Amino acid sequence: MPLYTKGGNRVDVLLNSTTRRDAQGRIVGVVGVGQNITALNRARKDFEVKLAAAADEDVLTGLPNRRYLNYYLEKELRTHQGGNDNRGAFLFLDLDSFKLVNDSLGHQVGDDLLKIVAQRLKRCVRENDLVCRLGGDEFVILVPLAVRTIEQTNALVRKIIRNIDKSITKPIQIGSHKLNTHASIGICDFISEDKVEDIINRADNAMYLAKKDPINFYSFYTVAVHQMFEHKMRVLKGITRGLTSNQFYMEYQPQFNHLKELVGVEALIRWQHPQLGQLDPNQFILLAEQNHRINEIGTWIIETVFKQVKQWSQGGLIIPKIAINISPLQLLESNFPENIRLLAEKYDTDPKKIVFEITESADVEQFSLIRKILMELKNKGYRFSLDDFGTGFASMAQFKRLPFSQVKIDQSFIADIETSPYSLAITEVVLTIAKTLKLDVIAEGVETQAQLDILTKLGCTGYQGYLFSRPVEADLLQTVLSDL
Ligand SMILES: [Mg+2]
Repeated sequence: MPLYTKGGNRVDVLLNSTTRRDAQGRIVGVVGVGQNITALNRARKDFEVKLAAAADEDVLTGLPNRRYLNYYLEKELRTHQGGNDNRGAFLFLDLDSFKLVNDSLGHQVGDDLLKIVAQRLKRCVRENDLVCRLGGDEFVILVPLAVRTIEQTNALVRKIIRNIDKSITKPIQIGSHKLNTHASIGICDFISEDKVEDIINRADNAMYLAKKDPINFYSFYTVAVHQMFEHKMRVLKGITRGLTSNQFYMEYQPQFNHLKELVGVEALIRWQHPQLGQLDPNQFILLAEQNHRINEIGTWIIETVFKQVKQWSQGGLIIPKIAINISPLQLLESNFPENIRLLAEKYDTDPKKIVFEITESADVEQFSLIRKILMELKNKGYRFSLDDFGTGFASMAQFKRLPFSQVKIDQSFIADIETSPYSLAITEVVLTIAKTLKLDVIAEGVETQAQLDILTKLGCTGYQGYLFSRPVEADLLQTVLSDL
């Protein structure tokens, strides 16, 4: 309780007291001990202020943090409610290849880099713009709401972007390391009626595009971006339901050798989406990979194909080899070999008939693990084919350490092999490598006799494409094969 000294100064006193009563229970007095806690209270208040500040501040860079950004933006939107002429901008910024700096030069260098970037960003904006660090290498610049047109807002944003471009790309010296930093920026403008999470999502989506844009390092959120992401969300959301309600199905495309004998079929997934129509694998496989949904689809594919192979053999249709596309991410699922074992047991699958096609991938980090898993499956009799060879960045040194028994020449090279010396050269190189390493080869997308003639002349011995047969559903395969 507060007490006041004779001089009028306030003293905070902590009082511990008990009442004294007479025999009838009436209060006759109070006995207590008072403790002056003025200094203690002041210290506590100081501490609380510091604590509140620390909770809003990013410890590494001293910039406001995510928590503060949310609080600030909420307040900003609330105080401008109804002011329809007000417009602000939200810039989501992320450094390119920051992880590489951390991984190769250590976290100390990474931290120092973030501190310098934070300082530079603050110099790129106007005094009342807010620069925050969300965590990792993610920063946000907030241009507060003010009476502006879209054009005026964009002009302001472009100025900030020009400043960032000039400032961030200047080499940064940390110890003995000279680092060249680049950033990607997603931008959206907003009004007071918008919601915080929508604003952040839009800028995030725009940044996703900026990351993929080979020319611009920034991207504005537009209606087209919005529609693209809506579409992606619908695709992603539909996967589980699609798998359980027969929207997905497999087609099989025959593969032949130079003697026109059937050497195998490649199983290809299809999706008949109830609203979006027929979806091509490239419209959902990469998306599923990026969103950790590939295993769900991958497991369904393997089970469906194993089951189909059993049905074919029961019906007397013998296919020498069945190729199944799998994603490197699927391989890295903890129990991939065990799942394969269980499915093979369930459907009496002969591992020697199965070829797993794996796309060339630049995932160097997990290389050893991938190799271990492939070796384990190889020892059980499974075979591996390197898909779309020539389109990725797999290094030769790594490639030869993986147990592939086949390479597939990507159809993009076959498509213009007659007219492009480049495609012709790549095809020749792949064939030479395959011959040296004693690998089978299958050229994909063979559609014309002229393409086949060139490939045959180059010594290619395996083909797949419309010239022979398009992919067909399982029950049609028998008919197609007997017609050939
Ligand atoms: Mg394939």
